[in-house]
Amino acid sequence: MSEIEQLRNEAPAYLHKMIIPRDRMDRAVAEANAMPGVRHTPPADLRFIEGIADLPYESVTFFHCIPDAQSVVCKCGREPNAADIVAYALRQNLHSRQTVRDAIIGVQCIFEAAQNGRQAPCLRCARRIMLSGYWRQEYMYV
Ligand SMILES: [Zn+2]
Repeated sequence: MSEIEQLRNEAPAYLHKMIIPRDRMDRAVAEANAMPGVRHTPPADLRFIEGIADLPYESVTFFHCIPDAQSVVCKCGREPNAADIVAYALRQNLHSRQTVRDAIIGVQCIFEAAQNGRQAPCLRCARRIMLSGYWRQEYMYV
């Protein structure tokens, strides 16, 4: 069984979100990076994430995601990525600002089992887009 499968099996006991050790996170990230359809958030959008989350410039080195089949390219032409989800989470106060920052900064490694993907408005046109997963070194939603 893969590390991600094992984590997904354990997650329901932790309300689908759990803190995991670094070695398990590293294996899960390596597996996720090899999944089909992985998109790298472009540098300009990483700087945008840092800006809206009050994080140091160039502190977010990567933030990969997998867009849903209907969200590979938005009707406006934008290719949605982690920035759309992070902006929505912060602007809608879905989680406290500190929770979002902690997830991005990576105080601890957090694994969150995806239920049906996460929706957000496209950053450019506000049409609804969906990501089935997104992750960086210390946070994974898959
Ligand atoms: Zn759009």
